[in-house]
Amino acid sequence: MKQSSCPNCGSNSFVKAGIVNERQRFKCKKCNYFFTVNKLGKQIDDYYVNKALQLYLEGLTYREIERILGISHVTIMNWVKKYNIKRPYNSEYHPTYKILNSSELSKYFSDPKNVKGSGVIVTELGDKFMLIKWERFKD
Ligand SMILES: [Zn+2]
Repeated sequence: MKQSSCPNCGSNSFVKAGIVNERQRFKCKKCNYFFTVNKLGKQIDDYYVNKALQLYLEGLTYREIERILGISHVTIMNWVKKYNIKRPYNSEYHPTYKILNSSELSKYFSDPKNVKGSGVIVTELGDKFMLIKWERFKD
């Protein structure tokens, strides 16, 4: 999955530009060339599909999911369509979220104030954890 330079101009300045045929696609910032790297493992692919749909169901927007997972919002929209995911319509509230490592997570849960009065969902996110809460975080 590692790519260190653009195959067209050799620049090492490029950005993720979605996933095409299960391959991570990149766009060179210098010459605008699109290129893909090694096929993503099926497991990795499934992992991101699950995470993206999970976050979508929690009420996050496509753009937020894009920012968190580094997957293009177009790809996420396609997954939502493909798996026919529908979320209950609700425009009144929006969840807040935090990304913590395991020690920050245990610290967070050790304070009863943080969990009282509202549920928290924890999902693994790479080497960290994401906390989703329906109430505004106090700090
Ligand atoms: Zn280039």
